[in-house]
Formats: sequence, C-alpha cells, structure tokens
Amino acid sequence: MKRVVVLGGGESGVGAALLAKAKGFETFLSDSGMLKENNISDLRNAMIDFEQGGHTEEKIVDADLVVKSPGIPDKAPIIKRLHELNKKIISEIEFAYPYSKAKHICITGSNGKTTTTLLTHHLLMSAGKSASLAGNVGFSLARQVISDDQPDYFVIELSSFQLDGMYDFKADIAILNNITPDHLDRYEYKFENYIRSKFRILQNQTKSDLFIANADDPVTKEWLPCMSVTGSMAKVSMNGADGAVTKIDELGHVFVTVPGLPELKIDPEKMTIHGRHNIYNAMQACVAALKVGLSAEDITKGLATFKNASHRLELVATINDVEWVDDSKATNIDSAWYALDAQKRPIVWIAGGTDKGNDYNTLMSLVESKVKALVCLGVDNHKLLETYTGHIETIVETRSMADCVRECNRLAKSGDVVLLSPCCASFDLFTSYVNRGNLFKEEVLKLNK
Ligand code: ADP
Repeated sequence: MKRVVVLGGGESGVGAALLAKAKGFETFLSDSGMLKENNISDLRNAMIDFEQGGHTEEKIVDADLVVKSPGIPDKAPIIKRLHELNKKIISEIEFAYPYSKAKHICITGSNGKTTTTLLTHHLLMSAGKSASLAGNVGFSLARQVISDDQPDYFVIELSSFQLDGMYDFKADIAILNNITPDHLDRYEYKFENYIRSKFRILQNQTKSDLFIANADDPVTKEWLPCMSVTGSMAKVSMNGADGAVTKIDELGHVFVTVPGLPELKIDPEKMTIHGRHNIYNAMQACVAALKVGLSAEDITKGLATFKNASHRLELVATINDVEWVDDSKATNIDSAWYALDAQKRPIVWIAGGTDKGNDYNTLMSLVESKVKALVCLGVDNHKLLETYTGHIETIVETRSMADCVRECNRLAKSGDVVLLSPCCASFDLFTSYVNRGNLFKEEVLKLNK
C-alpha cells in the first residue's frame, strides 16, 4: 500500500487526508501549527493518524506521495528536505483530480478570484445547473470527490500556490482575471516566477476547452503571446481590444458575443456588484456561463440576484449621509486602485497594515483627485506618510479600529464615503482581513446607536 503524507491540516489538507484514507492509502497528516477542533474530529472519525505542533521527519520522509497545503512555502525546512529526497509533492486539487467526474471551471488571478468564482457558481446554480464550489472557497475538492455522488461542475478558485503543485490537472474552462505583483516573497521576489505560476491554469487544455483572458490586463497582454493556448480563447475587454468578445456602448452596457453562443447584454446598473473591476469579473463569469449552456435570460437574472462574499466593497451603513464601505479584502495596491476608482464621493481613506512591498505612487493621481483625508491604520505607517504627505490635505495615524473609526467619523462630512481599502495585509493589528473587516463593521454600527 502506498503511503500518502499530507502536510497542513486546514480544509484542503484534511480533505486530502480523508480522500487518501477512503481510497485505501496509508495516510498520515502533519501540521506545524495547531488544528481546529472540527478538523481534528474529522481525522479521528476517519481513523487517520496525524500530528500537530511540529513535523516528525521520519514519519514524513518515507512518503510515496506528499500532498502539500498551499500555505506552506517551499522554503519550509521539511519541504526542502523532501525536495532533496526527490519526493513527489503535489497540491490537494491535483491529488483530487483523478477522482473527479465533473467538469472543472477554474479561476485564477491576482484579484477577483473569489468574486468571479462565487458569481460563476451563482449563475450556474440559479439557472438550475448542478455545481459546487471548491478550492479556496467552500469545501476542498478532495473532500467532495470521496463519493461518486458529484455535481456536474466544480467551480474552483485556484491560488498560484495551488497551481504550483498541479501537473496533470486540466481546467475545462480556465479564467485568468489579471496579474499584478503579489506574494513575491514566495517567488524569490521574481515577478516572472509568479506570472508563470498563474499561466499554469492553461496546462493540459485540449482543443475543446476554453481559456477566458482579460485583454486589458497589461501583464496578460504581454505574456500571452509566449504561452501556448491549445483550446479556444475568449478575450474580454472594456477598451475595445482587438478580437475581444465584449463591446461597451456609450451607456456603459456590455455586449458579449462569443461565436456560436447566445448574445448577451449586461447592464452594470442592474448588477449587485459595482466598480470597473466587477465588470471585468462579471464579463469573465458570463462567458463561462454561456459556454456551459446558460441562456442570456438566465444570466441576466443571476447577475441581479448575486450576493458577494463580505469585505469586498461592501456597504456597511449610510449614517448622516456618510457611506461606510468595507473593502478589507483589498490587501494589495491593485485592488485598492479599483476601490478608489469605484467611489463617486469624496473619500476618507483607511489604509495601512503589513506592507507586501507596495509602491504607493501608483495610486497618486487617483488619491490626489479623490481622497480628502487619509487615516492610517497600522503599526508602521512611514511609507504611507512619506508618499502622501503634501498630497492629501489631512493625514492622521491610528493603531486600533476604535480610534480609526472615531477619527473617520470626525473627518467625514455629509456626502463623503469612508473607505476601508487598506492595500496591506492585516497581521500587524488583526488576525486576518476578516477580523479587520468585522471590527470595522462593529465600530461603524456603534455610531448608529
Ligand atoms: P481574490 O480572491 O483574488 O483575493 P476577491 O474577489 O476576494 O479576490 O477580491 C479581493 C479584493 O480585490 C477586493 O478588495 C475586491 O474589491 C478587489 N477586486 C475584486 N475583483 C477585482 C479585479 N478584477 N481587479 C482588481 N481588484 C479586484
């Protein structure tokens, strides 16, 4: 019997361990941190041997196959050791793939993965298709392919880290939202490595498969000619790019015309998600939905009933004609750019946190034209202060959410928007972007009392 060792005991690792055990492998799971209670009970119920709080090398190096959770970097000592021993290391999606009976609609990109994944899934479900979420959202793919009772489609959000461990997997429909610098600490600080990782979404595609690309994304545009695209390609664009399947009229309506598929008109005003970035997300999800066989009418209905995940340009409350918007998920420059761009009111902007190597100058012209006050929320705000002092009228520093919301409330006047779109990870003051966003909501809702 082959021995499968799973490294990492989050949803993807536990799913992989459950699948390995169910398929008759000798299974061991190891996590250097502590597991959540529900994951422990899943492992115990399936009688899977596991350890937490550290890796026992002898129990790991004798693996025939290692399934590595996406959060574990290649520079972790145990991974280095496994590489030295030439062990095969794959990701959970790759491990699950041979057991899947469904079609795979896969979404990757630097920003917009979750939104596009949820929207694609919603369009399919609301049109009566059988579909399930997997990857970074919902349950792991591995857990969902244990039984033969599977949906017709898996809609899978793929991070670059998942893609790095994928070799034989094939996406029937692949969506690449955009590529902007992110996670470079995991790619030897070489943007090129990260770009190549994202393009792995194309691997193994055959003629009957579809690749949906964003022709307005400069990095995609530059790199696409070097990539081999075997299936058909549908490019979306809001700028009239050559060969795109989308066109925008003077009212801002989007016409989607994919050869051989029904024609679709999207009215962004009738969508539940807003901003230019969400038009890109919607165009890509809609092309996938058309390819799957949805009618234009089904898609139009789905776009009007979609509810996005929290902390993505989410309107928390309007108090005394001040809008309070939670975009805590904006952990890089590009996502904050779209958030600032989407605002129609003068902005009191909350930014800061753990900086991943940001160049704040790229936001300068938007900031100068739209931001009336910057409320820094971070332990170390020096880069924000250095960049924007002299360019924004009012800048204050805060180091707790309560102080931050109090300052914003003082600075915002009727007709303004307070926008939490931090450009940074949250780990200096918060446990996660969810924790940061929830605390923001709590403090804002207190103002209403
Ligand atoms: P991901 O899963 O790739 O992190 P999300 O859908 O969770 O993407 O969105 C993350 C952040 O990026 C949010 O702040 C959101 O408003 C912003 N965003 C969403 N879609 C896009 C896009 N296509 N381009 C740029 N930013 C986007």
